[in-house]
Amino acid sequence: MSAESSNSQSLHTTCCIVGGGPAGMVLGFLLARAGVDVQVLEKHADFFRDFRGDTIHPSTMQIMHELGLLEEFLKLPHNEFQHLSIIYNGVEVTIVDFTHLKTARAALGIMPQWDFLNFILKQAEKYKNFQILLQTEVKDIIKENGKITGVIAESPAGQIEIRAALVIGTDGRHSIVREKAGFRVLSTGAPIDVLWFRLPKEPGDPEQTLGRFDYGRIMIMVGRGDYWQCGYIIEKNGYEKLKSAGLQQLKKELLIVSPFLSNRMDLIKDWEDIKLLSVVIDHLEKWYCDGLLCIGDAAHAMSPVGGVGINLAIQDAVAAAELDYISSVFAHNVAKLSLARALGGAADKVELFLKLK
Ligand SMILES: Cc1cc2nc3c(=O)[nH]c(=O)nc-3n(C[C@H](O)[C@H](O)[C@H](O)COP(=O)(O)OP(=O)(O)OC[C@H]3O[C@@H](n4cnc5c(N)ncnc54)[C@H](O)[C@@H]3O)c2cc1C
Repeated sequence: MSAESSNSQSLHTTCCIVGGGPAGMVLGFLLARAGVDVQVLEKHADFFRDFRGDTIHPSTMQIMHELGLLEEFLKLPHNEFQHLSIIYNGVEVTIVDFTHLKTARAALGIMPQWDFLNFILKQAEKYKNFQILLQTEVKDIIKENGKITGVIAESPAGQIEIRAALVIGTDGRHSIVREKAGFRVLSTGAPIDVLWFRLPKEPGDPEQTLGRFDYGRIMIMVGRGDYWQCGYIIEKNGYEKLKSAGLQQLKKELLIVSPFLSNRMDLIKDWEDIKLLSVVIDHLEKWYCDGLLCIGDAAHAMSPVGGVGINLAIQDAVAAAELDYISSVFAHNVAKLSLARALGGAADKVELFLKLK
């Protein structure tokens, strides 16, 4: 990768990944590991954001296993569940049983997403050809002769132009990359939204379940260390109506479905303590064009049911890293990798060999 100084900075890389969520970070790691120069651009300063899901499905555990990372990964604080149940009309019902799976870990892990992302970052940074720029927000794509050849981003240091053989859009459900590329979004629609909030756990609280379905209401409750991450399902666009009925009214509704929270409801002081997730289910008609591929939520925002979004984004990253198209774009780097292996990983010898060629 090289940088030129002018009014706006210019970088050159092989693969520019826009967005450091699960899809972008896993793909960045996999490509860097395969010898490809990767530049990840992430608009936030770190991975510590609002709750964005914690579920590490057996499919993701399997990937960690195949990468030889599972043992280290599982040293991070997490909970594991072989079965998932819900409280339905006061009765606990098991709705998921992972034990029959023939994966390295037949269980669902619950781990804060920032821990997962920091873990992947740590693995990726072992490779010199992995680079990440934080606080760098992509504003536009560069298109030349019908091909996407890079992106334009804003960072604290000013505007940066990043040129790349391939741009990957992993910038989530409000992807600027897919918008600027003119990709058509097909929306499936969703009848629900979710109100997310957290309340402390207390001794004597019920065991972890997926949630409580009672009196026509649904409350998802994810145990995270010393607090409950709660998701209250509301009808689509019902937020303003609830707000005008008042916070006390909402609290009454929450207590109908989760009465054991009554001694801590006062901790929800105002609407700022409650985050609205507008549930979106959509997918792109076409995920790619010359020089660009979108994956993860940027290509398909998933239903929240089952907490699959992170895991499918990771599956996309694995599939993308194996695509013939991507391999052909990165042929030079792949040749470098084979050579590096043949030369016992001596990258400097490889560079010299390529220059001599
Ligand atoms: C409240 C909530 C709860 C959820 N719960 C679950 C759950 O329990 N389990 C589950 O599997 N899934 C859950 N999901 C869905 C899950 O978060 C997504 O499916 C998953 O994170 C998709 O990964 P991704 O990498 O494609 O996109 P994202 O995780 O959205 O990552 C996109 C990244 O791109 C960055 N970005 C965006 N625009 C730009 C730009 N212009 N320039 C640079 N960077 C940019 C963002 O900051 C972000 O880091 C939840 C989502 C929400 C909102």
